[in-house]
Amino acid sequence: MIDLRSDTLTRPTTDMRRAMAEAEVGDDVWGEDPTVRALEEETAALLGREAALYVPSGHMANQLGLYVSTRSGEEVWAHEHHHLIGDEQGAAAVLSRVLPRLYSGDPFPPQELLESWISGLGDVHRADPALLWLENTFTGQVVPLAEQRRVTDFAHAHGLRAHLDGARLWNAAAHLGVSPEEAARGFDTVSVCFSKGLGAPVGSALAGDADTIRRARRGRKLLGAGMRQAGIIAAGALHALRHHRERVVEDHQRAARLAERVDGLPGISAAARTNMVLLSTPEGEAARYAEAFAEQGVRGLGGGSRIRLVLSLEVTDSDVEEAAEAIARAVAEL
Ligand SMILES: *Cc1c(COP(=O)(O)O)cnc(C)c1O
Repeated sequence: MIDLRSDTLTRPTTDMRRAMAEAEVGDDVWGEDPTVRALEEETAALLGREAALYVPSGHMANQLGLYVSTRSGEEVWAHEHHHLIGDEQGAAAVLSRVLPRLYSGDPFPPQELLESWISGLGDVHRADPALLWLENTFTGQVVPLAEQRRVTDFAHAHGLRAHLDGARLWNAAAHLGVSPEEAARGFDTVSVCFSKGLGAPVGSALAGDADTIRRARRGRKLLGAGMRQAGIIAAGALHALRHHRERVVEDHQRAARLAERVDGLPGISAAARTNMVLLSTPEGEAARYAEAFAEQGVRGLGGGSRIRLVLSLEVTDSDVEEAAEAIARAVAEL
């Protein structure tokens, strides 16, 4: 079975397991785990920030990013399909108790919308806006840096902060041919995942200025996620950061190859977006198509009229060829 449901499915490599087994550790709640510290320092440096905090999940990195930049009752401006809104169980409302104001369409808010949302600021009837949220990549789609810059400039000109959900920032940076620091420029906080395209078993980080990360560290403990000898898992993340970051372009090349192979098959159009291939099927048919793919040995995530296939560390060139053939067999039989 070639499993292309997600880039979270990767298992630690032999070298990564060795690095984890041999990791130097200490009590990280006391700030004494050298491997966690090394991971936090390297992550902060890569992102051009003063500090970073290792957390168990991207979900928590996002929620801490929200927590340090908002107060209860304030607004966060986001896209209706951001992970923050649709994939974190409503934690924004439960933990930080903020009011999301949502746009749809392109994965960045148009200037006119921002202008209209900011007008009437200070009116006694309305909630105060506190935070502008972006995601890059957005389900594989790269948000242009010029749009990011426009949005973060707008936020700062009006006293809002800006957060980047960079679960797949590594893919965005590789696609754009810029450093992670450049891809994350202009944001007050940035979250990144080690457990997606980089292939680590556990963990994400939140990066920002030293005071913001100090408050996030307190927030992490508040949520009960102070970890002891976390260097064991941080070593996997550190290995991933050092050895798997630059190879994500291979996933992008394989995604492009797979899209090219299956685009135009009966009922299917396909487009590659960084490490993902998004397939359109006839309306409402995606689940049925995905089931037919699985019968031929390829798993994807299908719903509505879209199937997502994700390339990552364990998927080889020959897997891509096999997957394309399996998909062709499946649609021929539908
Ligand atoms: C996966 C993902 C997250 C959350 O990561 P977890 O580690 O699964 O909690 C956050 N944002 C985006 C855009 C993601 O794709």
